[in-house]
Amino acid sequence: MKIEVTDLLKDSFGRAIRDLRVSLTDRCNFRCFYCLPHGEPPIAPKSEMLSYEEIEYACDIFVSLGIEKIRLTGGEPMMRRDIETIIRKLSALKPRLHDLALTTNGYFLPGRAAELKAAGLDRVTISLDSLKRGVFKEMTGVDVLERVLEGIQAAKHAGLTPIKINAVIVRGHNDEEVADFAAFAREHDLQMRFIEFMPLDSGHEWSREMVVSGREMRQRIEERFPLVPLKVPRGSETSSRYRFADNARGEIGIIAPVTEPFCGACSRIRLTADGQIRTCLFSTVEHSLRDCLRSGATRAEIIEYIESVVMKKEPRHYINDPNFAQPARTMSFIGG
Ligand code: SAM
Repeated sequence: MKIEVTDLLKDSFGRAIRDLRVSLTDRCNFRCFYCLPHGEPPIAPKSEMLSYEEIEYACDIFVSLGIEKIRLTGGEPMMRRDIETIIRKLSALKPRLHDLALTTNGYFLPGRAAELKAAGLDRVTISLDSLKRGVFKEMTGVDVLERVLEGIQAAKHAGLTPIKINAVIVRGHNDEEVADFAAFAREHDLQMRFIEFMPLDSGHEWSREMVVSGREMRQRIEERFPLVPLKVPRGSETSSRYRFADNARGEIGIIAPVTEPFCGACSRIRLTADGQIRTCLFSTVEHSLRDCLRSGATRAEIIEYIESVVMKKEPRHYINDPNFAQPARTMSFIGG
């Protein structure tokens, strides 16, 4: 059945919602100290998780409402066995869906990147917090730097490009490596994304002193490689983007939600693996699309529900307010 774009999702502040992040699982094979240091709490029964058919149906509705970009995430989304099926189903939503991307820790990419591409995935973002084996192990809890580097090469060979690399920069851990990452981006023609540490860790160890600001990251890069801001409208993008002044390959993006919030242009909503809609990374309430889908609601009723949830999207996050409350669920549940 051909579904027309019926209406465009807008929140109560007039922000158009175009970007959906879908978490495929809460499970993860890494133990990043800034996310899930003590491992997963008991995993919810499979029946509470959205099936691939439910994900496909929900995404079809979201795309009919104007969602243009879908990013699959988690937990570690490649731990979900039916990921290729999900990608194949979502890929059928193109060209109304403009962009189908995946955020992964890269561990499973060697040997599987080509399958993802064949299923219809456009591109990947790979997390990489250190180029030094010891620091990588200390930050992620696993000693697999070489394998992730292989994963990056596998993604490149499979054509899952442009490849973005996410590094969460945390004071006292990897802040000395910022310029090395820039050199890595130049050498391998990658889009480096430096992310400020956000208070979304299950260990509740976040402190302001551990945050390396976007401004400091940029200074550290420019001490070695002068940058020029890219002349592209920022729109709803999370990062400020730069090219290298000497026209080397690669790109730098700085994501500074703590020190330079960009909520006013936010176009994102999230769907958790158990089917909850989150209208902000820092939401303290969730809305059960799963219950709505399973209640026998008609497509029109589901659309009405989604529209009503989007109207509740928060104006901004409150990280910098004195009474900020960290959300109960961490990034691995919310879907980063
Ligand atoms: N497992 C996949 C991965 O490693 O990329 C996808 C999920 S992970 C939660 C998505 C992104 O969120 C990663 O790039 C990760 O570094 C980032 N992230 C997790 N916790 C964070 C935090 N407290 N502050 C900033 N970024 C965080």
